[in-house]
Amino acid sequence: MQLACLDLEGVLVPEIWIEFAKRTSIPELSRTTRDEPDYDRLMQGRLAILKKHGLGLPDIQKVIAEMGPLPGAREFLDWLRERFQVVILSDTFYEFAMPLMKQLGYPALLCHKLEVDGSGVVRNYVLRQPDAKRESVKAFKSLHFKTIAAGDSYNDTAMLAEAHAGILYRPPQNVIDEFPQYPVTRNYDEFAAAFLDAGRRI
Ligand SMILES: [Mg+2]
Repeated sequence: MQLACLDLEGVLVPEIWIEFAKRTSIPELSRTTRDEPDYDRLMQGRLAILKKHGLGLPDIQKVIAEMGPLPGAREFLDWLRERFQVVILSDTFYEFAMPLMKQLGYPALLCHKLEVDGSGVVRNYVLRQPDAKRESVKAFKSLHFKTIAAGDSYNDTAMLAEAHAGILYRPPQNVIDEFPQYPVTRNYDEFAAAFLDAGRRI
């Protein structure tokens, strides 16, 4: 059985923090690991900004629900799920992703989670495990799945390397240059064709 392991942000939905920063007009929230390589510092900073602006989880979820998936994402995902088993491997948090998962028909999602208190304030975050995308692919391989991993950025390259086949979807130029071994796709038609091609090869 072949299993498609799909990244979420930048592939099926917008970059959540960047889009959230735009919609709330809080530019500090658009900082990413490119600006602050220490992930814990980045996240603690984000949580402090949310608290400062009085944004609790329900407010955050409302903004995220309004983003919606990328145009064509739902149709692509439905197409993929008819042909492969599909699991989404993401570094986002369940509490953020759920409003978007609803709009994608609730596909299987493995990601991290938040700690939220009774009044909706996000207190902390809990990573499922270190290097979660790669570890997930490794685990699926131990269950005898043939895996095809696909994503758009650096944090996907470890799972692409671990999988039987890897596909890049609208990656930045530095990722293309550094990982020339993976096919680059730029729209959902090309992405679908790359999955069919990988499925024939592995
Ligand atoms: Mg991504």
